[in-house]
Amino acid sequence: MLDCEVKSSWTQFLEFIESRCSSAEFQNWIAPIRLIEATPDKVILEVPNVYVQDYLLDNFKEVLCNFLPLLASGEPAIQFLIATEKPTTSTTGSAPEPVEELPSNELCLNPLYTFENFIEGPSNQFVKSATVGIANRPGKSYNPLFIHGGVGLGKTHLLHSIGHYVKEHHRKLRVQVITTEGFINDIVDHLKAKSIDKMKRFYRTLDVLLIDDIQFLQNRLGFEEEFCNTFETLLNQNKQIVITSDKPPAHLKLSERMVARLEWGLVAHMGVPDLETRVAIIKHKSERRGLNIPNQIAFFIAEHIYNNVRQIEGAINRLCAHSKLMSENLTEEIVEKILSELFQHNAPNKKISVEEILKSVAAVFEVRVSEIKGESRHKEIALARQVAMYLAKEMIDDSLMKIASSFGGKTHSTLLHAWKKITDQVQMNEMLRRQVQMIRRNIETI
Ligand code: ADP
Ligand code: MG
Repeated sequence: MLDCEVKSSWTQFLEFIESRCSSAEFQNWIAPIRLIEATPDKVILEVPNVYVQDYLLDNFKEVLCNFLPLLASGEPAIQFLIATEKPTTSTTGSAPEPVEELPSNELCLNPLYTFENFIEGPSNQFVKSATVGIANRPGKSYNPLFIHGGVGLGKTHLLHSIGHYVKEHHRKLRVQVITTEGFINDIVDHLKAKSIDKMKRFYRTLDVLLIDDIQFLQNRLGFEEEFCNTFETLLNQNKQIVITSDKPPAHLKLSERMVARLEWGLVAHMGVPDLETRVAIIKHKSERRGLNIPNQIAFFIAEHIYNNVRQIEGAINRLCAHSKLMSENLTEEIVEKILSELFQHNAPNKKISVEEILKSVAAVFEVRVSEIKGESRHKEIALARQVAMYLAKEMIDDSLMKIASSFGGKTHSTLLHAWKKITDQVQMNEMLRRQVQMIRRNIETI
């Protein structure tokens, strides 16, 4: 039985540790630990072997004391189960199915990568619902599901979420998550040990195969064929396959046959989360860490870190570390100082022109560039003009007079007035603030 409060303390413990050790360390030593039972008096943890148990106690006993129930002696009240011992305690009378197990292939899911911990927004909603659909009915909807998108956007997170869900809700199904590198290493090891048939059998008995980072299969010709064969065997048996990649199938340097297989089912793109979703992620992750970040500061961070959720997490880790040392409240200045290396600025050498700004502003406000440059006092046009002036002053390193003259011969005081007005308005007007942010980003990525 899992007591909710103790279970959530365990999750918080995992988050705390993840922020303090390397991801390899976390994956090797912490991720394989499973919480089996949690009551206010004790927790039962399942570990793959005694080394993991020792590692946990040797390194994190004190930290564990802060999160878990304690014995009278002050030690954390943990009982360990070694995973391989478990089948002997099974009480069912029916003969167990003969299943091929490869010791190196235990299912290793990051405990934090669950659907519950995933924040949805317009950029990832489609992929999220596709993965939920698959987790509910593996092999019965899109097959394969191919997820592609940039680094740090949550592809691995959703892949592992499917793994957790299937493990919990379809206990009979055999699910495995692998990295493409891991698959290749497996082939190499089994070739060496002359046990390649055993490996093939293992993969081919799976019901759900989750493959991370298929781009690493590029330029590995010998392995591609083995991969493709395994893949086809599983697909032909309606076994579910989900693949992630940093590019869409057609952009991968793989054989036509392989690309065709990858495109067979559903190809889904994972985009960069928009400002609001980033704010929601910041709020969610910081709250779980016990850090209270005011909305204004969350927006400030979200505006400066925009294309990688992993970096957002890095920012929260830093703020957590600092918040322990600081008594003062977080202000934009302090946050900027702490996070300056993480904040994304335009490339310093990129020269932005007024024309570029005018075009982007005109597009967002749905007016013409000539109207912005003209004299019209129509509300929409005047606002677009002021925003363009504001952005020009913010983004172009030139004299005010010179910038102003690019706006159809306006004076530098008109420009300053516009800049001041928009500076005030973006503080108060959420919609305008978003429009300005969008235009700015568009200009920066031209
Ligand atoms: P990818 O595999 O696309 O490079 P990851 O899945 O490793 O990215 O995600 C990077 C980090 O960001 C992970 O810690 C993940 O939990 C987190 N993350 C990404 N997107 C979200 C989201 N929408 N909600 C919550 N956490 C997210
Ligand atoms: Mg990944």
